[in-house]
Amino acid sequence: MNLEQIKYHSCPNDDEDGILLVDIDEDMPETDENGDLQYYCPGCHSTFSSDDDD
Ligand SMILES: [Zn+2]
Repeated sequence: MNLEQIKYHSCPNDDEDGILLVDIDEDMPETDENGDLQYYCPGCHSTFSSDDDD
């Protein structure tokens, strides 16, 4: 998996660039119960899933 390609995702709240959350221990992206990637938005200080803006 190329983390660089999925490192950022637009926040559904304010279109800021959300940053991919990664489990440091496993060196794998964190996912929710649906297997969707999790991102943290520095603009609104919230986390969101990669499918929230579908
Ligand atoms: Zn945001």
